This record gives sequence, C-alpha cells and structure tokens, in this order.
Amino acid sequence: MTTQALERILQSQGFGSRKECRSMVRAGRVLINGRSVAEPFEEVATEGLSISVDGKTWPWREQLYLAMHKPVDFECSHKPSHYKSVFSLLPAHFITRGVQCVGRLDADTSGLLLLSDDGQFVHSLSSPKRSVEKVYEIETAETLTDAQLAALNAPVVLREDPEPALGVARRTGEKSLELIIDEGRYHQVKRMLGAVGNRVARLHRTRVGQFLLPADLTRGGWVEVSPSMAQ
Ligand code: URA
Repeated sequence: MTTQALERILQSQGFGSRKECRSMVRAGRVLINGRSVAEPFEEVATEGLSISVDGKTWPWREQLYLAMHKPVDFECSHKPSHYKSVFSLLPAHFITRGVQCVGRLDADTSGLLLLSDDGQFVHSLSSPKRSVEKVYEIETAETLTDAQLAALNAPVVLREDPEPALGVARRTGEKSLELIIDEGRYHQVKRMLGAVGNRVARLHRTRVGQFLLPADLTRGGWVEVSPSMAQ
C-alpha cells in the first residue's frame, strides 16, 4: 500500500503548489474519503482514495486518461487564437497536472479527442511510427462521385507532400463517407478530399485506435477511459 503526505497528494492531483495545498487543508477545505482533515502532513493511502475540495469529490488518479467529445469552434491549444480552448472544458486542476491532447483536431472538427498527462500514452497514440487508425465521418460540400471514392481508396497525392496518403473510404450517403487513415498529417482529411476534387463540409472523428467516441457523451463532455486500450 502506497501512502503519501496529504499535501503531496493534493499537489500531484493538480490542486496547487505544496504550500497552497497545505493552506487548503488547514483552512478545512479538504475531505479525504468523506472525513475532514486538518493536518496536511497526514500520511494517506492513495489506493481507492477520494478527495473532496470545496465540496467537489474526485477519485485519486496516478495518471489521467480522458475521452472528450470535442465540439466545433474549440481549439486544441492552451493559447487559442480565434476560439476557446478545449482545455476550458476541463476542471482547472486537470490542466495544472499537465493534461495534453493526443494529437489535434481542427477548430471546425468535432468528435473524439483523447487527453492525458501520461506522456508515454500521448506519444504511443500520436507517434507517426505507431500507425494508429482514426475514423472520420465526413460530409462533403459537393456530391461524392464514384471516381472520387475510388481515388480515396488509392494512394492520394497531396500538394507539397512527396509521400502519398493512404486511406480506406466507404460511402455512407450521396454527400457523405467514412474515411479511415492511420496517420495524422496536417489537415490530412481535408487535403485528401481536396486532392480528389471535393471539399469537407463537416468533419467528425469517431474512433482513435480502439477508443470509440461514447455514443452518450454530449458535445463538450468528457469521461475517463482505460489506458490499456492503447495497447
Ligand atoms: N484531418 C483534418 O483535415 N482535420 C482534422 O481535424 C483531423 C484530420
């Protein structure tokens, strides 16, 4: 059983510096497993621990693994330039503990965005070497022709890119398709659609590797996921 001083635990969970966490405990703002504590140096077992700060309860987590339903008009950046940041949809202490996006979605793309403060997890799913599949639902601006669909199922030559992009495309409607790619080049889906003579009107991601966007996750919502699915 691992134990740690309470102020250290609070710091590790992103609630502030050790000094700030010490003051929070002394001010009576913290409960552990439903019990109030006033001693910031009390040794506490981390396993199964629940921490309440200012009346909100959080499970202790060594690392955080999240799936977010990214809405459009949000940027995957800590310093967004035109829209709000996806990080504004998370509790502040998740940001303090260093939660990052696993890859990026454009501001006008919606759907599954994974986030974590586990650098290895982030790297394993976003590294170009790992060939992690991503599934996109696409609405096209123009009617999708059979020739365009066929072209998307063959190597697609992108502008200013010597390496053709590969994908598996399946028609889902007159102006819609599903596209599976296992890379994450800059604006890749939009560039692929452009290269075959169409244009993306709406882009929505439903899967990254084995992680599926939960059907009941509302736009802007997030849930914890199991990192074992990244293997
Ligand atoms: N490809 C794009 O063009 N945009 C995204 O957001 C994701 C993949």
